[in-house]
Order: sequence, then C-alpha cells, then structure tokens
Amino acid sequence: MSKNTPQAIRGTQDIFGADAEAFAFVVETFERVRKLYRFRRAEMPVFEKTEVFARSIGETTDIVSKEMYSFEDRGGESLTLRPEFTAGIARAYLTNGWQQHAPLKLATDGPLFRYERPQKGRYRQFHQIDAEIIGAAEPQADVELLAMADQIIRELGITDVTLHLNTLGDADSREAWRAALVEHFRAVKGELSEDSQERLEKNPLRILDSKDRRDQRFVDDAPKIDQFLSDDAKAFFESVTSGLDAAGVKWTRAESLVRGLDYYRHTAFEFIPDEGSETANKLGSQSTILGGGRYDGLMESLGGPATPAVGWAAGIERLAMLVSDCDVPVADVIVVVENDAAMASALAALRKVREAGLAAELAASGSPRKRFDKAVRSGARAIVAFDERDGGPTSRIKADDETSAILENLLG
Ligand code: ATP
Ligand code: MG
Repeated sequence: MSKNTPQAIRGTQDIFGADAEAFAFVVETFERVRKLYRFRRAEMPVFEKTEVFARSIGETTDIVSKEMYSFEDRGGESLTLRPEFTAGIARAYLTNGWQQHAPLKLATDGPLFRYERPQKGRYRQFHQIDAEIIGAAEPQADVELLAMADQIIRELGITDVTLHLNTLGDADSREAWRAALVEHFRAVKGELSEDSQERLEKNPLRILDSKDRRDQRFVDDAPKIDQFLSDDAKAFFESVTSGLDAAGVKWTRAESLVRGLDYYRHTAFEFIPDEGSETANKLGSQSTILGGGRYDGLMESLGGPATPAVGWAAGIERLAMLVSDCDVPVADVIVVVENDAAMASALAALRKVREAGLAAELAASGSPRKRFDKAVRSGARAIVAFDERDGGPTSRIKADDETSAILENLLG
C-alpha cells in the first residue's frame, strides 16, 4: 500500500470473511422471522432533515446533542445521516398517509451513523435490524414485538440473553416519577458525575442509565416508577407481562431501565447477556444487543396526531459477534474442466446444478492437476469432472451416494 492511499474513516468497518457471513446470517434470519410474524418490509432514506431527529429524539439526548452527523447540503439545508430508524419511519408514516394501514407492522435494516468513540461493538457506522408496530395501542402489540425479538435471538443460536423489562408509565406517571427523581438526585448533586449533574436539569431519567460508578449507589436507592403508576399504566404493564408469560418469553423486571430517548412511554426493554456468561464475555463492555419500547409521544412531536406505537432495534454487529462460527460455506459441487474442449459441457452442467439449488463452482484455470487439487481441497460434497476427446464429452462424478444420485439424475 502506498503512503498516499487514503485510509478508511475512523469507526467504519470493512466487513469480510467469516464476519460478513455472520452479518448476512443475522439479516437473513431477521428477514425469515419477520415474515412469520407478518411484518411488512420498508426501505428508508439514509438521511433526513435534521429537525426530524432533533424534534423527535429530543435535544437533550446524547444522540442529538453529541452524536449526529449533520451537514448543510448544497442548497443550504441542514441534513443528518440517520442515527436511528424510528424518527424517519414516523416522519414517513405522517408524510405518506400510512395511517390507512394502521396497525402497521414494519421491518427494515441498514446502516446508522453516530459520532461515538469507536471500540469493540461500537462504531460510527453500524447496522441495525428494526421492527415497529405503529397505530396499535394494545399491550398485545408489545407482546408480539417482543416475541419476535425473542424468536430471532433464539434462531440465531444465541443463548444466555435475558429480556430486561420496565414500564415508564403514561405521561402523568412519568412526569410524577421524573419530579421525584429530580428531588432525589438534587440532594446529592455534588457527588454525581459531571454528566449526571447536567442531566439532572435536562433529562433526569437518563441518570438511571449512567454507567459511571459515582452515580451507581444513588441510582440503586432512587424512587421507583411503581410508586407513581396510574391504575391504567399498571394494568397495561400487567397485560404485557402476562402476555409474555403466555407466549413463553422469559423476562426479568429492571426497575432502573430507561431508554435514552424522550418519546418513550409504558414499556421499555433491552435484551442483555446474563452477567458472567460466555455471551457477555464475547460482547465485552457493550452489553445491550437489542433495545426498544413504546413511543406513544413521538408522532405528536413531529406535528402529527397522537399515535400509539412500539418498536425495537438491534445492532447487527453485536448479534453477529454472538453467532457461532459462520465460515464461508463450502460448495456442494465443484465442476472441473479437464481440458478446454470440455468447457461448453461444463458450463451447461454448472447451470443445471445451480438451478437445482446446489452451490457450485467451476475449476477451469491452471493445469488440470491444479484444477483437481483445488476441487479436492475445497471439501465440496461432489466433484464432477468433464473431459472431451475424440469420442465427445464424458463426465465422472465423485460424490457421496446421495449427491451422486442427484447429479446422475441431473446430468444423465
Ligand atoms: P448503547 O447503550 O450501547 O450506546 P443505545 O441505547 O445507544 O446503546 P439504541 O439506540 O437503543 O442503543 O440502539 C439499539 C441497538 O443498536 C443497541 O442495543 C446496539 O446493539 C446497537 N448500537 C447502538 N449504537 C451502536 C454503535 N455505535 N455501534 C454498534 N452498535 C450500536
Ligand atoms: Mg448509545
């Protein structure tokens, strides 16, 4: 590499090899399972007007205040590379009149951008799978969404991960809780981390989210939401938890769990590896793999009508780190061209084999010996060699019995 070859941007990744296979496995599993739950696919723009995120996520959040990639385009408009999916989806719901499809179950995936300190499991361009149910007020929607998340994680073969669940109550419960938290933390303000001192005035719920040790002991004895829940909010949460039990989704109550975003109401949740488990070790210090909740307040902040909705997002890279080795898959069949006269027969065979759903590769370069070596070394289930001399094309099949039978049948 020459000294003047440009380097990749810090916090971006060039994903290749086993990592890329694991990444694809996560997306394929998501695609398969979302169809089982009848979520519809959406493709969303990678950038939006900055105000879409500023107004919906909230100016006081880390995302909006520190992490957004915002820039002016050539027309002088402030645009932002999406740091999450939900705000853009909410914008689209309003601007496209998707109300007509409510309740709308949507699934998407793709890259997101946040200006963060890059480390293992944390990047500046990362990727998420995302699922939302918009226009559904019933706790059944929360249950369905969580059951899907749970099934995806299980089908990825990821173990030792638990759903941590909390409620933030309705707007009134949340407001009363917020006031009690401010009072509680104000009494010990000087002992809190600098970040939390700042959060105290702007976004006190976020102190509960703090990973700073100085804040931890005050978080443990902070007032809990349960004291402030209205009867409605309590009943809603009970329906969610009993629904999860009925659907066989294991969960644990996490009274300090809040989501960093302002628009959350009622259900808030994260899937977190169990402490001390191998899964937790693999993830290192990045503990959460999937997070979400109910965001009944979001559409109004974008000027739309009150619209109940619930959703989640999971980091594809973090899920991919947890799936067991996804090596580049071995071919089912290698077609070896023994001499160049046999090329046409080989290509015709290759087409038939692939159309029958077998993964096949051609070995047609280098000496005949090299071609065979490559085929044998590949570990493929079958090798079909084509030769063509005076008597016309001949083929030899070397395979296990089952594959031989399939190939004889295909190639005659
Ligand atoms: P964290 O506490 O790790 O910063 P978050 O609360 O900011 O997470 P969300 O906004 O809820 O994360 O995003 C959902 C998921 O997306 C996370 O659980 C994680 O798996 C993934 N994720 C978020 N930020 C990043 C990042 N910078 N790099 C890789 N994955 C990320
Ligand atoms: Mg974050």
